[in-house]
Amino acid sequence: RKSVIRITTGSQALDELLGGGIETLSITEAFGEFRSGKTQLAHTLCVSTQLPIHMHGGNGKVAYIDTEGTFRPDRIVPIAERFGMDANAVLDNIIYARAYTYEHQYNLLLGLAAKMAEEPFRLLIVDSVIALFRVDFSGRGELAERQQKLAQMLSRLTKIAEEFNVAVYMTNQVIADPGGGMFISDPKKPAGGHVLAHASTIRLMLRKGKGEQRVCKIFDAPNLPEAEAVFQITPGGIMD
Ligand code: ATP
Ligand code: MG
Repeated sequence: RKSVIRITTGSQALDELLGGGIETLSITEAFGEFRSGKTQLAHTLCVSTQLPIHMHGGNGKVAYIDTEGTFRPDRIVPIAERFGMDANAVLDNIIYARAYTYEHQYNLLLGLAAKMAEEPFRLLIVDSVIALFRVDFSGRGELAERQQKLAQMLSRLTKIAEEFNVAVYMTNQVIADPGGGMFISDPKKPAGGHVLAHASTIRLMLRKGKGEQRVCKIFDAPNLPEAEAVFQITPGGIMD
């Protein structure tokens, strides 16, 4: 049996909320309004996953699937330095791919599984898991098909997490509700419906606080209380 590894988020408060960090063998979903820190947390995890186990890392490589073009290698440098790691070595251990369609995204996952069979990966990031589905199935009457394809993709993510003892960190968007004739985004409603809700082991809701402060709330998790943690986005990544 594989045993769970917990990877630090960079914030002690957030780690405590999560029971030690984000877990391998499961899917952690983060959703929330724009600039709430979903992608910044992804960047921090890219580095912390490479820390040795005794430093609350995962001692493994990282795969990053980017559907929005928001990965910044330059951001990795100060985060690596903050953890006392060599930035070039850290960057070398991040396998990055930009996905342009939902099918492309799916095929990248198939290719990654082959790579993970050969090298020790501990983290797979998909930022965002749903953006391309919303673009590729934007027509009326396409929702059922979208949900079916989304379920297929999510089941691959579950399989990767379990087969390779990897932590999957995926970001999600919030839905826009028609209200008073205008579409207003609701920061408390994750997109993806029950298909996404069912796939995520832990669902985190992020929101903006004062200045660079952010708040993370456990939205849904089988064995964690519905508590909150406050963290900061800094040049060195996520911190208390
Ligand atoms: P979206 O829904 O648009 O993808 P997001 O939740 O992914 O949003 P992030 O990109 O993670 O949001 O967060 C962006 C915020 O992170 C910025 O508004 C800024 O406050 C903060 N930030 C980004 N880079 C730095 C940095 N180098 N130093 C400090 N804070 C930073
Ligand atoms: Mg983002």
